[in-house]
Amino acid sequence: MNFTLHLTADCNLACRYCYETHSRAHMTEETAKKAVDLAFSFGHSKNGFSLFGGEPMLERGVIECICRYASEKAKAAETAVRFKMTTNGMLLDESFLQFANAQNLEIALSHDGLLQDVQRVTRDGKPTMKRLEPIVDLLLEYQPNAVAMQTVMPSTVDRMAESVQWLYERGFSRINTAIDYRVDAGWDDASMAVLKTQYERIADLCDAHFDDVRPLHYLNFLSKIAAYLNDRPCLECKLGMRQPSVSWDGSIYPCNQFLNLPAYRMGDVNSGLNREKQREIYRASLDPEPDCEGCAIADRCRHHCACLNFSLTGQMHEVAPVQCEHERILIPVADGLAERLYTRKSARFLLNYRDDPLD
Ligand code: SF4
Ligand code: SF4
Ligand code: SF4
Repeated sequence: MNFTLHLTADCNLACRYCYETHSRAHMTEETAKKAVDLAFSFGHSKNGFSLFGGEPMLERGVIECICRYASEKAKAAETAVRFKMTTNGMLLDESFLQFANAQNLEIALSHDGLLQDVQRVTRDGKPTMKRLEPIVDLLLEYQPNAVAMQTVMPSTVDRMAESVQWLYERGFSRINTAIDYRVDAGWDDASMAVLKTQYERIADLCDAHFDDVRPLHYLNFLSKIAAYLNDRPCLECKLGMRQPSVSWDGSIYPCNQFLNLPAYRMGDVNSGLNREKQREIYRASLDPEPDCEGCAIADRCRHHCACLNFSLTGQMHEVAPVQCEHERILIPVADGLAERLYTRKSARFLLNYRDDPLD
C-alpha cells in the first residue's frame, strides 16, 4: 500500500507560486504510526510512504519516527518499504542525509536553478540560493541521483532552459519542471510561445548530454517518451486506489487536492479505509474527459489527473485550457527529441527504448 502522509501545512519559505495555506496543522507521531499500521494491515509485499508538506522537514522528528517504525514493521513482516520526500532543502543537514540513506528515503529537492532567488524566498523575503549551496553539495554527495524540481511562472519562463542547464551543471542529472498552474498564474499566448521555445532549447541540451557518463535526464520528456515507446500509457487515474492521502488529523482522502474535503473523505487511520467510498470515488475517476475524446495524444496527456483538473476547474473530468495547451506543446517536443536520438543511434536511447519512435 502506498500512502501520502501530509506531515504539515506549514513552511519556512514563501515561494511566489505557493498554494499552501501555511497553517500550523501538523501530524502527530501517534497518527503517523497509525497510518503506517493501516498500510501494513493490507498485507502487501511492498509499502511506500511519500512524506509531504508544506515543508516536511519542519516535522523532522515525525519523519524519523515514521521511517524507523515502518522499517521495523517491514523487517518483521519480511516485506519491502520505501520512503520519498520532496523538500525545499533549507533544513537538510549531514546527519539527516545519513539517516535518509540508512532508511532508503529518497529525497527530491525543490530548486528553481537561476530563478531560485526570484521565486523562492524566506518568509521575511530573503534569498535562499546561497544558503542552499553547501546543502546541494551534501545532497548530491549522499544521493547523486536526487531529482531537482523546478517551477516556472509566466513571468520567468524565459529563463527555464538556462535554469535547467544551471541545475545540470551544478550536478543534478534528473530534473523536472512544474508549471505554475494556479488559476490566476497569468499564462497567455505569448508566455505559452516562450514555453515552447524553452522546451525546444532543453531538448537540444538533452540531445547534447544524453550519452554523457552523467546524462541529463529531463523527466518531463522522458515520461512522455516512455509512455509511448514502452507502451505504458497513463489511461486512467486510479483515484483513491493508487496512493491515498492521509491528512494531519488521520483522515484519508483520494489524493492531494481532495485533502480535507468532507465529500471525499474515505475513512481514517483509526477506523480504516471506507472501501465503499473508495470504490465510489475510483469508479467516478474512470469516466472519460469529454473534451479529450478522439485526441491523438490522449494516451500520454495528463488529462486524466483528477487532482490537477479539480484544482484548476473544480471538476474531476474537466481539463483546463492551459493544461491542454501545455500538453500539446510538450509532447511534440519530446517526440522530436526521441526521433533525433533514434536517428543518430544514441546508444543510451537504443538500450532503454527498444522500438522505432516513428512506427
Ligand atoms: S517550499 Fe515554497 S512551494 Fe513549497 S510549501 Fe514552502 S513556500 Fe510553498
Ligand atoms: S491534449 Fe488536450 S484534448 Fe488532448 S487529451 Fe490532453 S487535455 Fe485532452
Ligand atoms: S489525481 Fe493525479 S496524482 Fe492523484 S492518482 Fe490521479 S493521476 Fe495520480
